[in-house]
Order: sequence, then structure tokens, then C-alpha cells
Amino acid sequence: MSFLKEFDSEIYELCEKELERQTDHLEMIASENFTLPAVMEAMGSVFTNKYAEGYPNKRYYGGCDYADAVEQLAIDRAKKLFNCEHVNVQPHSGSQANGAVYAALLKAGDKILGMDLSHGGHLTHGSKPSFSGKNYSSFTYGVELDGRINYDRVLDIAKIVQPKIIVCGASAYAREIDFKKFREIADEVGAILFADIAHIAGLVCAGEHPSPFPYADVVTTTTHKTLAGPRGGMIMTNDEDIAKKINSAIFPGLQGGPLVHVIAAKAVGFKHNLSPEWKEYAKQVKKNASVLAEVLIKRGYDVVSGGTDNHLVLVSFLNKDFSGKDADAALGNAGITVNKNTVPGETRSPFVTSGIRIGSPALTSRGMKEAEFELIANRIADVLDDIENTELQKKIKQELTELAHKFVIYNQPTY
Ligand SMILES: *Cc1c(COP(=O)(O)O)cnc(C)c1O
Repeated sequence: MSFLKEFDSEIYELCEKELERQTDHLEMIASENFTLPAVMEAMGSVFTNKYAEGYPNKRYYGGCDYADAVEQLAIDRAKKLFNCEHVNVQPHSGSQANGAVYAALLKAGDKILGMDLSHGGHLTHGSKPSFSGKNYSSFTYGVELDGRINYDRVLDIAKIVQPKIIVCGASAYAREIDFKKFREIADEVGAILFADIAHIAGLVCAGEHPSPFPYADVVTTTTHKTLAGPRGGMIMTNDEDIAKKINSAIFPGLQGGPLVHVIAAKAVGFKHNLSPEWKEYAKQVKKNASVLAEVLIKRGYDVVSGGTDNHLVLVSFLNKDFSGKDADAALGNAGITVNKNTVPGETRSPFVTSGIRIGSPALTSRGMKEAEFELIANRIADVLDDIENTELQKKIKQELTELAHKFVIYNQPTY
């Protein structure tokens, strides 16, 4: 299709270049994925023209019959997918979803206890530069030097802080999250338990990570990370009272008209997540991340927590004379896209860091398996072993681009 090419060659060309970039590089940012062309088609559909403030059958605008049907389908599929009773599919993003949870359940100044950003938490879990750290009184727990959450320690902190809400879930944590233990902690201090499964939702719905239900009072996720759907957010709960508060917090509390085209795309994504192939995908994501961790350990790298239970691997360079920023740049030159990340016991600034985070979801969506991940992990180690060798980086980039081209993302442009 070339409406775009005809009408706006500048943006068209940038789309082409971006597709080329995504095709040529090995995308290993743990929060990214490749969505289906069907999802993109729904996202680019006529529903972008429609105003549908409100909820299915309770709209403030006419002409919402089909928008109602779309949103109801998305809700029904999400309920089935996560086995829960109430879902709001309107949040524009994961951060919006989290904002709505706080707006629904807290008053300004109430206490939040969440995972420290530098230990793997998310900005919206009470970090100071975020609304969550500005509008609420935020406190943090972290991981031990072994890279794991110590639940006894979280309980000790919770007892001192007496938070109104405890946030569990992370953006850079390679181990299973024990929602049952968090429930016990929340019960002990009388707090609401909020699970943010933005990173692991694709594994949770496949049964490849324990579910936050029935332990958490409220659960949020993004739809574009391991779920591989369109960019967006979602909120789930089994509590009818909380569900009502969440709905009002999203609309009219924080958002106006829902993105019906994105909700349609979410529904398509959920259909993908409900398919039998999805379980295979989620299993493969974990296998691929494990291979990555094993090879890096074998090659002498310090993998935080000694491995992974999910889709990501954190590598620490605390014992090296180069930083996460250096590693990120060197791997970028070699055609591998990762991100620098703080690690437990961090000594460098958040702009430099002593680690990198590497994820398997996107390359797994391209069809790569253990053999490819073994090769890639070895090339990552080759680059890091000789981090200033730009000639080697160039050579590896050539090899990896050839590998990447064997795993087609989209057979034809999707714009
Ligand atoms: C990515 C992420 C979010 C935010 O999602 P956005 O769509 O980028 O706003 C929230 N929580 C966690 C744990 C995340 O990893």
C-alpha cells in the first residue's frame, strides 16, 4: 500500500528506514517485540476516526455500536487470557494504567512501597522524577547483592513504612516474582497489593510464570512487551469495587476518548496470545534467555542472580574496567541492540551504569531458537572480551546481519 508514499514521502522513507533497521539489527531490548501485521492493520484501521468516551453501552457519543463490540471483544478475550473478572483495556500505556491505579485507590500523599528503579523497578513505582514519586509519599525495597528479592527484608521495610499500597513487578528482574509472598506481606501490614506484570505478562498468560491472581488486588500490564500486541496498557482485577474505581479513574479521571483502533489491535493481540502456538512461543522465549545466560556465564561473565527464570538476562560489569554504556555502544556497533542497566551494588551513575539488560522476546518472535541464541551469546562475549576492537565489531555486524536476514520479520512492508 502506498497512500503514505504518495502523500508524504518523508515519513514513508523514515518508515522504510526503520523497517530496515529492525530487520538488519538483532533487537535484544527486553521490553521490545515484533507485533503481528494483523495487529498493525487493526491499529491502522478506521476506528482511529471514532470518539467513544465512556464504556461499552455507556458512551457519550452516538455511532458507537461497532466500537462497543470491539471493546467488549478485547475485554472478554483479556478476561479469558488472564482468568480474571474485570478488565479495563483503555489505558494508553503502562504508565497511564499505573497512574489510574493510584488515582483510583490512593489520596495525594499516601504511602507507596515499590521496587527501587535502580534495582529493577519502574519509574511509576514511586520514583522521584515520576508523578508516582511526586504525588505520593514513596518508599522502596530492592534486591540483595545476589540479585534476588529478599522477602523477609521487604516485610521488615513494609512494617516500618506501613504503606497504603505495595507494588510488585519489575522492568529488570530475571527471577520469578513470588506473588503469594507479597500477598502475605501486604496482609501483615494491611496494604493493597498491586502487581505490575508489564514485562512478564506474555509468560504469565502462557503459564510460564506464576500468575498474580488470586493474590494481587489489582494487576496492570503493557500489551506491547512480551505480549507482542500493540503499544498500550491494561488493568485487571477480581474485585468489583476496585474495578468501578479504576474505570472512573481512567475515564473521566485521566483520559478522554479511548484509542478504539488500538483497543481493536489489543483484541487481535489477545487472540494471538490465546492460540496454542502462544504457549510454544513463551516456552521458547524462556529457553532462549536461558541459553543466553548459560553461554555468558561459561564465557566468564557475571550474570546477575546466576541466570534467569524469564525472558531477560542482566549482566554485571562491576568487576570489569568498562561500563554498561561502553558495552551498549560496542554491541550496537556489532549490530546487537541492548540497553545499559544499573546492577545490584552499582558504583556508576545511571547514565553510565555497570550492566546491560538483554532480552529474548523479539528475536524469538522472528523464529530464532537455541542454536541462534548460542551463537549470538558467543558473539556478545567476543565483543565484550575485546571491547575496543572496532574492526572485530564490524566483522561481527556483517555476520549477524546475514543471520538476521534469514529470519524475516514481515514479508512485505506493513505501512
Ligand atoms: C514498561 C513498563 C511500564 C510502562 O509502560 P509504558 O507503556 O512505557 O508507559 C510500567 N511498568 C513496568 C514494570 C514496565 O516495565
